[in-house]
Amino acid sequence: MGFCFSKLCRKSRDIPISSSSDSESPSQPYYHQFPFHDAAPPPPPPPPPLPSLPPSTVSGILGKPYVDITTLYDLDKELGRGQFGITYLCTDKATGGKYACKSISTRKLVTGKDVADVRREIMILQHLTGQPNIVEFRGAYEDSKNLHLVMELCSGGELFDRITAKGSYSEKEAARIGRQIVNVVHACHFMGVMHRDLKPENFLMVSRDDASPLKATDFGLSVFIESGKVYKDLVGSAYYVAPEVLRRNYGKEIDVWSAGVILYILLSGFPPFWAETEKGIFEEILQGHLDLEMPPWPSISTGAKDLIRKMLTINPKMRISAAEALEHPWLMEDGEASDQPIDSAVLIRMKQFRAMNKLKKVALKVIAENMSEEDIKGLKQMFDNIDTDRSGTITYDELRTGLTKLGSRLSEAEIQQLMEAADVDKNGTIDYVEFITATMHRHRLEKEENLYKAFQYFDKDNSGFITRDELRQAMTQYGMGDEATIDEVLDDVDTDKDGKINYDEFVAMMKKGIIDSPQQLKME
Ligand code: ADP
Repeated sequence: MGFCFSKLCRKSRDIPISSSSDSESPSQPYYHQFPFHDAAPPPPPPPPPLPSLPPSTVSGILGKPYVDITTLYDLDKELGRGQFGITYLCTDKATGGKYACKSISTRKLVTGKDVADVRREIMILQHLTGQPNIVEFRGAYEDSKNLHLVMELCSGGELFDRITAKGSYSEKEAARIGRQIVNVVHACHFMGVMHRDLKPENFLMVSRDDASPLKATDFGLSVFIESGKVYKDLVGSAYYVAPEVLRRNYGKEIDVWSAGVILYILLSGFPPFWAETEKGIFEEILQGHLDLEMPPWPSISTGAKDLIRKMLTINPKMRISAAEALEHPWLMEDGEASDQPIDSAVLIRMKQFRAMNKLKKVALKVIAENMSEEDIKGLKQMFDNIDTDRSGTITYDELRTGLTKLGSRLSEAEIQQLMEAADVDKNGTIDYVEFITATMHRHRLEKEENLYKAFQYFDKDNSGFITRDELRQAMTQYGMGDEATIDEVLDDVDTDKDGKINYDEFVAMMKKGIIDSPQQLKME
């Protein structure tokens, strides 16, 4: 789930603010020539066109007779939800094979543009299926209420969750993941498609196996590349968007930029262009100052930094292409990326947590207490690994041993600081909920329903405000209800200075610094 560039945005996944024409007509795809290998196969033929119905004919998205999907597949449990649809686990009745089925309620496709967008997504999925690291598409079926897209099941979870659950990983591992992401860019460009929304959330692992491949699953903002066309739509997700998108004049090079941003995060744990607001992030991107000096960059190889510099080159004409990146010595299979562990995402999140104000810590705890098993499974495993005596709490010694196992090179003082930060109730140990709170992935927390639940927890009388008394009550419960803390929280959160916290102020606080700035990550 990414950022919308505008309040007008209807889908929570990113959409252009203006509906300028460039994403509308898939027309004739332009096949980019394979730049490197002479023996490359000739470009594939264009995909069979879907019937061109007037976009307002929402009752027939596919222009084919209705099919009752339950005659072909058993729909099982829900796997996840997006703005338009719900993804289910499904079983092919004939073969027993397991797949994922994204069911979109056609009622939700209200405008001609919504219909055109979904049709284009289907067409692109059909066109790209079979390429490495791209989800296999099985078919689209429509009944009177829903459109069902059946595809390969990716049951290994999201990319970043996996990295967290694993704890320690090396540059070699980052290169293996980076290579698969660049592979997707290459496959898309080779097939004449510009992805336009590459971000970690759009990559799923096929299985739980350590060596599981990664698959791109979401092509909702992708378009067929038209030769000579200048693209102008403002689309993408804030951290990952290329500068030329913000200047509204771009081509397929934007995907290499986004892949470069993902690689930067994989290696360092924070995004290269960061600010507390979307506007601030855009300013950073346009300014284009790339920081490869701050920790942890000094301990990262020159090869990795060289590739990142080439992928995050401001001028798209000078930027490395996906095919060239695949030949880069650091990214290449069996290339120079080393086995040395780098700071784990868990460690980085703990450092971020440390920098948060106390209300936010308590709010995260409230959310963590309400998380489902499914949401926190990797972290639970990790907690158990660190809690070696199985006591249900992590002591200072266990944390130190656990972090060392994860490849951390922290000093005693730094570990002590993390311990104090995570130990919200200050009883000297980290309990399970505290650990989950400090390490869980921020985008899980950001979900509106979670934020609302947490707000309601504080707003005991349902007045729409968290008053000073309510704040005191909740903070006391967590062992920090003193006046100084309450003043500190109000000072930080109560932006309109009326002495209480409304929902907007609460949400702004929770969303502030979803990934904190490098400055905050540095241990003093
Ligand atoms: P979004 O609107 O966020 O792009 P989607 O509808 O594409 O959402 O997917 C919602 C969720 O469904 C994903 O976050 C993921 O958990 C799950 N999902 C999507 N595709 C698959 C798949 N092929 N296999 C397993 N789970 C999937």
